[in-house]
Amino acid sequence: MSTDPYAWIEESLATIHRADWYRSVQTIYGLPGATVLLAGQEMINFASNDYLGLAGDERLIQAATSAIQTYGTGSTGSRLLSGHREVHRDLEKAIASLKQTEDAVVFSSGYLANLGAISALIGKRDLVVSDQYNHSSLKNGAILSGATIIEYPHCDVAALRTQLSQQRQSYRRCLIITDSVFSMDGDVCPLPALLELADEFSCMVLIDEAHATGVLGKTGAGCVEHFDCPGQQLVQIGTLSKALGSLGGYVAGSASLIDFLRNRAPSWIYTTALSPADTTAALAAISIVQQEPQRRTQLWQNIAYLKESLQKQLPNLKLLPSESPILCFQLPSAADALKAGQQLRNAGIFAPAIRPPTVPTSRIRISVMATHETVHIQKLVVALSRAIY
Ligand SMILES: *Cc1c(COP(=O)(O)O)cnc(C)c1O
Repeated sequence: MSTDPYAWIEESLATIHRADWYRSVQTIYGLPGATVLLAGQEMINFASNDYLGLAGDERLIQAATSAIQTYGTGSTGSRLLSGHREVHRDLEKAIASLKQTEDAVVFSSGYLANLGAISALIGKRDLVVSDQYNHSSLKNGAILSGATIIEYPHCDVAALRTQLSQQRQSYRRCLIITDSVFSMDGDVCPLPALLELADEFSCMVLIDEAHATGVLGKTGAGCVEHFDCPGQQLVQIGTLSKALGSLGGYVAGSASLIDFLRNRAPSWIYTTALSPADTTAALAAISIVQQEPQRRTQLWQNIAYLKESLQKQLPNLKLLPSESPILCFQLPSAADALKAGQQLRNAGIFAPAIRPPTVPTSRIRISVMATHETVHIQKLVVALSRAIY
């Protein structure tokens, strides 16, 4: 056999290109913010998850810099093996206080938090029911657990009820998993109805607040607070990397849940602790979220202003339903989405085209920030009217 065992990779890449699914990374320069430098041109940034504009905030930068001076750059090993810093526990207590839970545990990313929590909570004898639009980390956590996976149609509580009534009794434990704000659509899960079903069918519920923390709820605690749901009964996942402007993930919940995860979640046990800089930047961000609610108010005003302007000026735009800073416009094909993204870029707007296999239908995804100015939003609307019509 003399065939190149890696030849299939080139062929596979060619297929990706032919489908207009090929992706590549853009380099941006300078501090992150409402505007960024892209290929030497200042662009208005609608491509970031930095909803409150904290990733470039002087206070987070200061917190991270002084942590590096005190603790160094690396955390040198897993926490169980090499020990941790006071700031790790300070951050976990701050998360628990924001989420109104007994405790929390931080992971090196939100992705790892989902893999670790889901695979620790259920196994081969169990059932996981998952919204079809859930984030990749939830889906892969479910696969990793070895449990039987059933997907329910997006936010369809009636279909979920039917599936649970047919399947639940055949399994030991059952875990319902859902994004709170769906990351590629911007709509919100029907949490109160999910909790009722969980109660009726004796299921655990895991909710991923990645795009809701700092954004939804009176104090920025997320969707659980937004719906005024009792948080103690939940496994609440989130990330430090979006509105909190840092890097890392967490699980918040009861003291026993968190204690259990510290003993059973492989993506926590066998990986290096969060770096001191990421940890203290996130700590500074949580205190800003709690002390400066005006940032959240401004974010929601910007969202309302954008939606109003779109309704008035582009009534035919195919806007997907959204209750968050994420607004998506559907386009007929991947090629159309790429073309619209390029036209927006020519107009000084940075907003990504999202295509299969990430989503079932191609779209342009806009994410609004608290630090966008009125003129930024006005320019977006003008550019959209030219790019999409
Ligand atoms: C971004 C995201 C994650 C992953 O978080 P990271 O900290 O970036 O790894 C998990 N879940 C959802 C819903 C997300 O949008």
